Amino acid sequence: MIDKSKLACLPSINDLMKQDKIKELITIHGQDVITTSARELLSDKRQHFLAGDDTVISNNKQENTAVLLNELEKAVSIKTKPSLQKVINATGTVLHTNLGRSNLSPLVMEHLTTIAGGYSNLEYDVANGKRGSRYDHLIEVVRELTGAEDALVVNNNAAAVLLVLDTLTKEKEVVVSRGELVEIGGSFRIPSVIEASGCYLKEVGTTNKTHLYDYEDAINENTGALLKVHTSNFKVVGFTDSVPGYDVCDLAKKHDIPYIEDLGSGLLVDLSKYGFSYEPTVMDVLQNGADVVTFSGDKILGGPQAGIIVGKKEYIDRMKRNQLTRVLRVDKMVIASLEATISLYRDQKQALEHIPTLQMLTMTKEESDARATEYAKVLEGLGLGLTITKKEAFSQVGGGSYPGEEIPSVILSLTSDKLSTSQLEEKLRQVDVPVVARIKDNELILDVRTISEADFNYVVTAFKEILS
Ligand SMILES: *Cc1c(COP(=O)(O)O)cnc(C)c1O
Repeated sequence: MIDKSKLACLPSINDLMKQDKIKELITIHGQDVITTSARELLSDKRQHFLAGDDTVISNNKQENTAVLLNELEKAVSIKTKPSLQKVINATGTVLHTNLGRSNLSPLVMEHLTTIAGGYSNLEYDVANGKRGSRYDHLIEVVRELTGAEDALVVNNNAAAVLLVLDTLTKEKEVVVSRGELVEIGGSFRIPSVIEASGCYLKEVGTTNKTHLYDYEDAINENTGALLKVHTSNFKVVGFTDSVPGYDVCDLAKKHDIPYIEDLGSGLLVDLSKYGFSYEPTVMDVLQNGADVVTFSGDKILGGPQAGIIVGKKEYIDRMKRNQLTRVLRVDKMVIASLEATISLYRDQKQALEHIPTLQMLTMTKEESDARATEYAKVLEGLGLGLTITKKEAFSQVGGGSYPGEEIPSVILSLTSDKLSTSQLEEKLRQVDVPVVARIKDNELILDVRTISEADFNYVVTAFKEILS
């Protein structure tokens, strides 16, 4: 039998609300959240007690108050924490779609903060005191850097492909090689997008080989466009053949139909100088004659999520008049951060230095070795019983870019004398700023390529929290 008189040892809501600690919490979280949470907590205690658990209340009112205040602080901190939160990417996959793809440059963030927090000339022509267009802000710098006649920016590259097809090829056939009917992470499938845009997919060639005559044979009076899709997240090896974009383009010109290229990742610098295999840049594709090119803002470009469409003015003008453009339109934060990111490419050295995605991708093995050495020293110095070894491994580009390309790195491999490797991996995800790491050969892998110096401080905090 529980002794109901013990309930009197619980403080009343009024007693509780008079505590200094509560006043402190109210200045942080506001009166409403604290009052509601305090009521919930007290009622919880009573219910548990009445259900037979008399350990939830002690005979000392002061002690009960202290316990309640402590629990309240924790409950409120969990309740008010945003669902979308910072995490540390220790996986070495630079463009990790699940972890938010590209990180914006601090230089970009500065401009973004100014624009996001106030009024701007988003759709206002300041010089003439008239209405302006939100798309004008980006066009100049995109034209300057890519040589395109015109540009348009929408929500993401999937939206870009949809808009291009909906505008140029509705109710017509779009010719695509069977080797390029790709699915990109997050259920973007080229055949489905073609269907959704109200045109008909005309598949040509085979999975491993497509020839120019395959395209030529497919062209008829109902052909709306020839489309080439970058096979950005897989590689077909062995007995393969595909037709270079410029040949498909020449064929399209001969028949007076548009040639569209979905590039996936939009390169504005040639990364073959940094150990990557050659991939055409946006400039290359336009120079080869493509009428319309689409690419993502948050893949290798290193900006915010966006879909960028560049190409012939007559086609882009038609897209601007499409109602879908209104549906897929980008907000001022995207325009601000995309313009600022692309502007950094005016100087390649500046882009490589200040755009985190490019920084991480072009970090040499020697640089990762130096970083791994430095981080290992700090972690060992914590005296938490970690055994740390440096190992050679490969980081990944990710984000459906550069399939099969591996970046040579030096990484850290850890074991703990207190926790198993799977416990370590799990607990690292449960701290205030979660650290997402991998396990290989029963050791915890920290790939330092994706852990900036600033982020490493959080890694240190996490290890201290789970091991001391
Ligand atoms: C990634 C990718 C897409 C989708 O781009 P999002 O910006 O993620 O919508 C479309 N096509 C190709 C070839 C891609 O690589």
